[in-house]
Amino acid sequence: MTTHHPFDDFGKHLFSENVMKETLPYPIYKKWKTATRKDDALDLNTADAIAHAMKAWAMEKGVTHFTHWFQPMTGSTAEKHDSFVEPGEYAQAISRFSGKNLIKGEGDASSFPSGGLRATFEARGYTYWDCTSPAFIRDNVLCIPTIFVSYNGDTLDKKAPLLKSIDAISKQATRIVNLFKDKDIRQVHPMVGLEQEYFLIDKKLFEQRMDLQHCGRTLFGSMPPNGQGVADHYFGSIPRRVAAFMKEVDEELWKLGIYAKTEHNEAAPCQFEIAPLFAQANIAVDQNQIIMDILRTTADKHEMSCLLHEKPFQGVNGSGKHNNWSLVTDDGQNLLEPGERPHENIRFLLFVCAVIKAVDTFPELLRMAASCYNNDYRLGGHEAPPAVISICMGSYLEDVLMRLDKQEKGSLKDNESTAISLVSLADVPKDTSDRNRTSPFAFTGNKFEFRMVGSSRSAATTNTVLNTIVADALGEIADELKDYKYIDDIRRQSLQICRRIMKQHHRILFSGDGYSQAWMIEAKKRGLPNISCYIDTIPSLTAAKAVDVFQNNGVYKQHELEARSEILYEEFINSVRVEVKTLLDVSKKCLLPGLIKEIKFYSDALQSLPKPHLFYEKKINKLLKLLDKFNDQYHVLKHKNLDARPLTANREIARHMNDEVVPALKSLRDIIDEIEESISYENYPVPSYEDLLTSV
Ligand code: ADP
Ligand code: MG
Repeated sequence: MTTHHPFDDFGKHLFSENVMKETLPYPIYKKWKTATRKDDALDLNTADAIAHAMKAWAMEKGVTHFTHWFQPMTGSTAEKHDSFVEPGEYAQAISRFSGKNLIKGEGDASSFPSGGLRATFEARGYTYWDCTSPAFIRDNVLCIPTIFVSYNGDTLDKKAPLLKSIDAISKQATRIVNLFKDKDIRQVHPMVGLEQEYFLIDKKLFEQRMDLQHCGRTLFGSMPPNGQGVADHYFGSIPRRVAAFMKEVDEELWKLGIYAKTEHNEAAPCQFEIAPLFAQANIAVDQNQIIMDILRTTADKHEMSCLLHEKPFQGVNGSGKHNNWSLVTDDGQNLLEPGERPHENIRFLLFVCAVIKAVDTFPELLRMAASCYNNDYRLGGHEAPPAVISICMGSYLEDVLMRLDKQEKGSLKDNESTAISLVSLADVPKDTSDRNRTSPFAFTGNKFEFRMVGSSRSAATTNTVLNTIVADALGEIADELKDYKYIDDIRRQSLQICRRIMKQHHRILFSGDGYSQAWMIEAKKRGLPNISCYIDTIPSLTAAKAVDVFQNNGVYKQHELEARSEILYEEFINSVRVEVKTLLDVSKKCLLPGLIKEIKFYSDALQSLPKPHLFYEKKINKLLKLLDKFNDQYHVLKHKNLDARPLTANREIARHMNDEVVPALKSLRDIIDEIEESISYENYPVPSYEDLLTSV
């Protein structure tokens, strides 16, 4: 009898490197490998051979269609299916999939936002195979990861800039590693591990909340009496229904060759987390998109709804997507590993200082790249980092770095042993269990963890920004070191560079309580930006220093940045508009009739009494007052929303939405929540927070 091992199906749906090795003639496999290293472009014959093998592999598994899978600027994914079928000579169906089909597709994706990039010149957009990310099968379709580019070469997606940023950081990091000449390396890969948080709630209840359906979050609702006090949820036992869901999610992911590893309850009730093993940045970003999709579709199968919104419930923890990031050479050295051997230390310090400089120079960009409208509701409390960006290095490393800053130039002896004793890092505590959860950007042993990223966001932009700004800092360092020939000189000079960076950028280091008011005051003193509104971060994308850093590193051209900034404003405006429309609708069609019924209930009761009764009168008065407030605020929101009509520039509309409409939404919500507290269950027509948060 054969038994089925749980991992027998691992990678079954992935056209992985191993499958390529097995199914392709060796010279073709080698050519593909060379192309992934960007040493040579793929020729059409090679592409034909790969396409043929891919099709054969997929059809054996019952696949009939293929799609160029891409990541438009909306941050989600898109696909257009084509079947392999073609007419044969005698009216029979034959299958065909050519190298051309594999490499290039013409996506008629004109409905995707382009921020004007496609209107101005040529409407057509093309998808091109990203041969560094493996093809996979989902729902009987062969999905080919692609980038999406306009006729004249402008990037129309989130993936192409990410790939460019990976090239940029690889180039600059490689220069530095090779200066130290341990062994010549060819590439450095940014590695990324994404922890994904999400909520699960019962589907039937979800369907009764229009706000959840349309906006992904509750627009009203007051906290249950025990609130988040359901503390035993965290790492508590996983409910059986959720365990069955997670099992299926794991199985699906394993089939796709994704190493889904950890799963647990998160801090809030009904909140969970999944984290796969880290991978090269572009692959990790693809995998995260697949994970979000599989979470949603699998939840649906289990009669639940998966909420990926950053803040589905007010007063309850929000969800993030922790972006763990490191740099690993093609021969496997993690450049953020402090290392046991002293000579590795100075190189480690150089890379850490490059990150410090990058983050301190571009905090607004990072804040923007991690965020969206939803994330504003999450940042600054409940286990989420504040809106001020700072780096927590841990006390040991912070001390080492600060000592560099304090060293007077003359006090450094010109010999290497001083350098080594100063930076003996062999004892850097490896235990990261006590690390600071309030920090948006924390060094955790051998990687940085950027915790600001919102759960619904594509991780592409976050990593594009991170790679680019660090590439830029590394580039400057490499330029400064390139003329030194002797290793001792390089080390000495490196130490000087670290000292200088620390002098200029030490203000970004902070290991204390990021939630405290004292830190907000201190951060202000240090001149660190504290941008509480997402839309105020959008201009950072087109600021002169951002344009320079992206252009100089070959990641975005200026007009591509301008287009993206337009799209971000549009996205923001649309999100708020949908919320307004939804809240007005629910108010009018559902909450208001409930309140009126409640008033009628008490009036009828009062009238049926032999004489007036104070309790009933008071109750009716209170409800009538709420009705007035409700009605007034309903109209305030409606009119504030309409007030945007004469505005034409997205930036102005977004400003108005942010300053006028969002507060009006909040005020109406507050009144609704007050009504919820005063009304009987019978006349509160939607599931409450308590119902939702105990539903799985
Ligand atoms: P936490 O304690 O925050 O849950 P984990 O140690 O479980 O963190 O790791 C979280 C994520 O970080 C996982 O996806 C893991 O694979 C990833 N990770 C671990 N090491 C690295 C690294 N060197 N570079 C990038 N990601 C990493
Ligand atoms: Mg984490």
